[in-house]
Amino acid sequence: MSSEADDFGSNTKSLHFLLVPMMAQGHMIPMVDLAKLLAARGALVTFATTPVNLARIQTTIDGVTASALPIRFVELQFPTIDVGLPDGCENADLIPSAELFVPFMNALSLLRRPLEAHLQDPDLTQWPKPSCLISDNLQHWTADVARTLNIPRLIFHGPSCFFLLCDLLINRHRVELEVALEEKSSGSFMLPEISHPIRINKHEVTSVMGSDPSWSKYMESVRAAEESADGVLVNSFVELEQWYFERYQQATGKPVWPVGPLSLYKEELNTKETRGRVSSIDSKILFQWLDKQKVGSVVLVSFGSIVRNTIAQLMELGYGLEASGRSFIWVVKEVEERQVLGVEEWMKKFENRVEGRGMVIRGWAPQTLILEHVAVGGFVTHCGWNSTLEAIAAGVVMATWPHLYDQFLNEQLVVDVLKIGVAVGIEEPKLHDLWDDNEMAVKVKRGEVEKVLERLMGGGEEGDERRERAKEIKEKARMAMEEGGSSWKGLQDAINYVLESRQK
Ligand code: UDP
Repeated sequence: MSSEADDFGSNTKSLHFLLVPMMAQGHMIPMVDLAKLLAARGALVTFATTPVNLARIQTTIDGVTASALPIRFVELQFPTIDVGLPDGCENADLIPSAELFVPFMNALSLLRRPLEAHLQDPDLTQWPKPSCLISDNLQHWTADVARTLNIPRLIFHGPSCFFLLCDLLINRHRVELEVALEEKSSGSFMLPEISHPIRINKHEVTSVMGSDPSWSKYMESVRAAEESADGVLVNSFVELEQWYFERYQQATGKPVWPVGPLSLYKEELNTKETRGRVSSIDSKILFQWLDKQKVGSVVLVSFGSIVRNTIAQLMELGYGLEASGRSFIWVVKEVEERQVLGVEEWMKKFENRVEGRGMVIRGWAPQTLILEHVAVGGFVTHCGWNSTLEAIAAGVVMATWPHLYDQFLNEQLVVDVLKIGVAVGIEEPKLHDLWDDNEMAVKVKRGEVEKVLERLMGGGEEGDERRERAKEIKEKARMAMEEGGSSWKGLQDAINYVLESRQK
């Protein structure tokens, strides 16, 4: 360990971080990595979430126990039934319909009481009082908890600084942008305060939830809690997006510490295999198949934990993959979940036709391990930030297929700024967010899937240059997480900030 870490090493052992993640896979997974990183530096960590989410990461909890990392996992009861949510609806990917999304987000603050009860539990006196609260920015109610405890609060932000900066500027200039929107019913906008063009579409300016007053109130609380936070941790690395990182830091006026890519946290294979939840495929079969494929020849197709495609889109994508002649792994959640008549049969026939060349994983895949396998050369992704960063960390080029929220801006970063991806060509988000009513809707035809795969996996000189750039960025990502690297230092600086604020 370097002298800088040594100086603080023994003091770090006296720190106790209380982590409160958002209950969604894209937020929970990196926060578990963050907990391990903090504990590996010697700090005590309490990781507080609900029973369903703890059950999903039981293998990780077992791994932590076996490795004696000082992390305590604490169960907070989430009163779903009291607020009209189905029993056990404790993660965003379990919300069954669009109308329940806002009630789910509003119910998050009900975690405050069980958390405070935990903090007052006399049985816990062998651990010191928390010295810092790190919460997902969506868990705004934690601001009051930190205030009561009189400790610093850091926000953990999922997305890229590119997105965070744009989002912050959109909020700052919302009135002007809305006027511009009235004058121009479609197309994109230039973002004020940024000297180079960034496309901002209507859907990025208007709230994803329309004018729902309860959503606006929720977002106001999120912004207020963001403003009162002491600092921000981002799952990114400076070398990836330095300009945006610096501007974002200036715009917030508070310390921003890069700590990613968190997926590069080194750990034993078996816990990476169950990152997020237990995999739906026997990893022996999966990796035996991958080991037989040529280097860089396989494309992974996956849309994260929340996004669902319509059944018609699913089939269209399948036909495109089949026609492409490429080897692929396709992660499909929809067939089991929807039980639409005839889909199961369609999928079985499809699997028979592509046998040997394509593999379908129904449910949860060990995504980071697949991306890191040498046989994998391309990734068709919805551009969720974790998936994007995991591909970056693995040096894999992307075909970008955004569906909602930050995914459109993440696409711009990947395709236009970093130039390590090709766009599938989606212009608008889904109308009703996560759930499409019309199962027959198709946005991307099979011919377009075929074309984009050709550009991604082949693409001539342009394709080679893209792959070359992706490999260079991968090396920078690895260096950022190594001891002494920018993200390694970022985490150390955040720890030092807490140590110093305790001395004040
Ligand atoms: N993930 C996974 N297996 C799956 C689907 C997703 O391991 O089958 C992980 C993925 O590696 C990433 C996270 O779940 O860490 C998804 O986060 P992301 O931000 O990409 O998308 P979201 O699910 O939030 O839309």
